Amino acid sequence: MTETAASEAEVTGPCESSADVIVVGAGPAGSTTAYHLARTGLDVLLLEKAAFPREKVCGDGLTPRAVKQLVDMGIDVSESAGWLHNKGLRIVSGGSGLELDWPELAAFPDFGAVRRRADFDELLVRQGQSVGVRLFEQANVSGPVLDSRTGRITGVTARLGDEKRPVTFTAPLVVAADGNSTRLSLSMGRHRRQDRPMGVAYRTYFTSPRHDDRYLEAWMDLSDHRDGKRRLLSGYGWVFGMGDGTSNVGLGVLDTSTAGGELDWRELLRTWCAGMPAEYGFTPANMTMPIRGAALPMALNRQPHYADGLLLVGDAAGMVSPSTGEGIAYAMESGRIAADVIVQALARITPAGRERALQSYPRILRDSYGGHFTLGRSFVRVMGNQRVLKLGADHGLAHPTLMKFVFKLMVNLSEPRAGDAADRIINALTRLAPRS
Ligand SMILES: Cc1cc2nc3c(=O)[nH]c(=O)nc-3n(C[C@H](O)[C@H](O)[C@H](O)COP(=O)(O)OP(=O)(O)OC[C@H]3O[C@@H](n4cnc5c(N)ncnc54)[C@H](O)[C@@H]3O)c2cc1C
Repeated sequence: MTETAASEAEVTGPCESSADVIVVGAGPAGSTTAYHLARTGLDVLLLEKAAFPREKVCGDGLTPRAVKQLVDMGIDVSESAGWLHNKGLRIVSGGSGLELDWPELAAFPDFGAVRRRADFDELLVRQGQSVGVRLFEQANVSGPVLDSRTGRITGVTARLGDEKRPVTFTAPLVVAADGNSTRLSLSMGRHRRQDRPMGVAYRTYFTSPRHDDRYLEAWMDLSDHRDGKRRLLSGYGWVFGMGDGTSNVGLGVLDTSTAGGELDWRELLRTWCAGMPAEYGFTPANMTMPIRGAALPMALNRQPHYADGLLLVGDAAGMVSPSTGEGIAYAMESGRIAADVIVQALARITPAGRERALQSYPRILRDSYGGHFTLGRSFVRVMGNQRVLKLGADHGLAHPTLMKFVFKLMVNLSEPRAGDAADRIINALTRLAPRS
């Protein structure tokens, strides 16, 4: 137990509410978890420190994986409902571009979308409320409540409302969906694995004629010019049209340890934007939001994903893909899996049966993502090499078939069963790659 944990006897405030499950954090991971739990009739508390709508620093880009999760939640994903659909990814390198369409698959839709996170996250949370999720906004969770005999989590302490009133919430199971900083996981001793890459991403918005682009655009020439030398970085700059007169413009570096020391990421983004074609309009006068960023916790970097009544989902669980920096789809998918496991566990008759069901959660995560994330980590390691980066930047686009294959592999969009030759190779590679 750390200093932020309270034993039952030391709880600082009265019990505000009890439920079957508490979900801490109402980002995509928390809202998806809460939605799927409540849909089965469970009583779910969703505790969020902010009040909606709230900003979240993001690229606002959704791949078909994320769109599938939205559809599974019964959310209208049509353009008339406010989404800007995209057809795929345009990779720009060495002055030329290659458009790679999202693959046509039975398992996933063939379009992605963009939507501002203030809007997107509120939509998800309201969808949860529509099936009975009990949302507490301005509920800043300060630590776990522990059973002093077993060490299991039995609830959380929080500061509620403007007046920051100390309260407790109790439930036999708690889900940490509190994002990259995940104070709750830390206070339960779940520290970050140091053998996993940590990415970083920064973004801003510009008014731009590119605002209604039907492709997400990734520029592979991201480089650091310190000491007057050009050093390519293992990441990319992005331009995602928002369809509202603005573009979300940012950079993501997939493994900060290969960046050759601390970089001023804001300055790097400013310099990169200044070098973009004039017709994009990325001038300081057109910038509509300050540059902001955050870390990208990758490749299942916080474990165990279940122990002592606490499950980890989304960024708290290190669910960002090391090959692309995509996190929303994986946050939602882990939320869905956690909810399915909890529903089964709570229906068991004995504590041992319940625990057996809960212990399957880390295994399912490893089986579903371990192989893909291991391939992604290898990719990041290779991309940390200057010679490989330069080769890719100079010649990658000259091999469209190879690029299509790499694209499918990196965005994790293949037919799980059957599919074409590329799908079969990808599935075999993913199966063979070690999972941990
Ligand atoms: C600059 C940038 C660009 C990105 N671009 C993309 C992109 O284009 N596409 C993509 O798929 N991914 C992108 N990502 C990654 C993506 O944003 C995350 O993976 C995703 O938000 C994870 O969702 P989550 O629900 O796990 O966490 P979050 O979205 O971080 O949500 C966590 C929630 O928990 C709440 N919370 C935190 N602490 C507490 C507490 N103590 N008590 C109560 N509530 C709490 C927070 O307020 C927040 O609402 C980007 C990340 C960055 C930094």
